[in-house]
Amino acid sequence: MLNVQKIREDFPILKRQVNGKPLVYFDNAATSQTPQVVIDAIVDYYSNYNANIHRGVHSLSQEATDAYEKARKKIQRHFNAKHAHEIILTSGTTHSINIVATGFTTLLSEGDEIIVSALEHHSNIVPWQMLCERTGAVLKVIPMNQEGELLMERYDQLLSEKTKLVFVNHISNALGTINPIEYIINKAHEVGAAVLIDGAQSCPHIKPDVQALDADFYVASAHKLCGPTGVGLLYGKEAWLNKLPPYQGGGEMIDQVTFEKTTYAGLPHKFEAGTPNICGVIAFGTALDYMNTIGFDAIASYEKELLDYGTQQLLQIDGLKIYGTSVNKTSVISFNIEGIHPYDIGSIVDKLGVAVRTGHHCAQPIMDFYKIPGTVRASFSFYNTKEEIDILVNSVKKAATMLR
Ligand SMILES: *Cc1c(COP(=O)(O)O)cnc(C)c1O
Repeated sequence: MLNVQKIREDFPILKRQVNGKPLVYFDNAATSQTPQVVIDAIVDYYSNYNANIHRGVHSLSQEATDAYEKARKKIQRHFNAKHAHEIILTSGTTHSINIVATGFTTLLSEGDEIIVSALEHHSNIVPWQMLCERTGAVLKVIPMNQEGELLMERYDQLLSEKTKLVFVNHISNALGTINPIEYIINKAHEVGAAVLIDGAQSCPHIKPDVQALDADFYVASAHKLCGPTGVGLLYGKEAWLNKLPPYQGGGEMIDQVTFEKTTYAGLPHKFEAGTPNICGVIAFGTALDYMNTIGFDAIASYEKELLDYGTQQLLQIDGLKIYGTSVNKTSVISFNIEGIHPYDIGSIVDKLGVAVRTGHHCAQPIMDFYKIPGTVRASFSFYNTKEEIDILVNSVKKAATMLR
């Protein structure tokens, strides 16, 4: 059991007011809030050992390098990668995906196929479309049903020896559906395709094990895991990372440089050109420690309680429809009220202190599927409470009365 009241004390932002009302933060699928220990790690870095890494012989640089590499090992342990050098530190999920998508340019030929899912975030669609334009490869899409679930029999039919890559998110940020990634990975491997899992939305809820999953690549962002923005990871199996060319040229990623020829550094530095987000990486390590102390099993079961309660309460509202009704879903509720634009609901509940997201959630194809402009999305985290859900429900009711 979580001691939620005690956990809430860890988050200074939860004490503030918005528009004269206590903040109810239900936009966790966009970014999570930051506990004091992570804020302290950031302040400590800039107050005590800010220096560039891997370069200086001086003490500060060594301290910063040690802390940075220690964080990489924490991240390795958390995701259960076999080697620390299989963890590439990036600016986030989008950056990580682009490293892979750009790297595959040299590995694909015309007529090869890439499979993505109908439930993807834009950051997981556009880089593959660009890759297809560069290589002549063809993009195929696993379709979904009304519940917001991917159709696995259609996936089976799409797979062939032409399939070179499969990309799916573990959990859809727009609907909260948990996709059957174990099945997707096993089936892709049967035809020799590589699989990239976008874990940006699942990591806050489910502790991943990249070796047990047998994922070829796995990406995530720290800012959805109680860490800072602008930092994330690309996990890749060693053999795959060795096959991919570097993404950016610059300092840190080289071995020898002359004007005739440059040789590249080994993993992970080959993909970490330039000065990285040193402080961000260190604070990411602290955020993982924090979340592991609370425990992912406890987080998952508490969030399920919030999801069930929120679903039940919201459905009491006249004309309210929830999008994404799979039994396998996480604590995201996407909804609309008949005849009312989601933006109008979002604006009114904000006046009442409740932060929800409105719009297409970077997943326009999903909105097109349901033929709607967008939804209101409330996404719950382990620091939220049922009392806050009551405030949401009352605020939505008020908005609906005003707008009807
Ligand atoms: C948030 C999110 C992204 C993008 O993450 P960034 O940190 O903005 O790069 C990608 N995919 C999913 C499923 C997400 O939820």
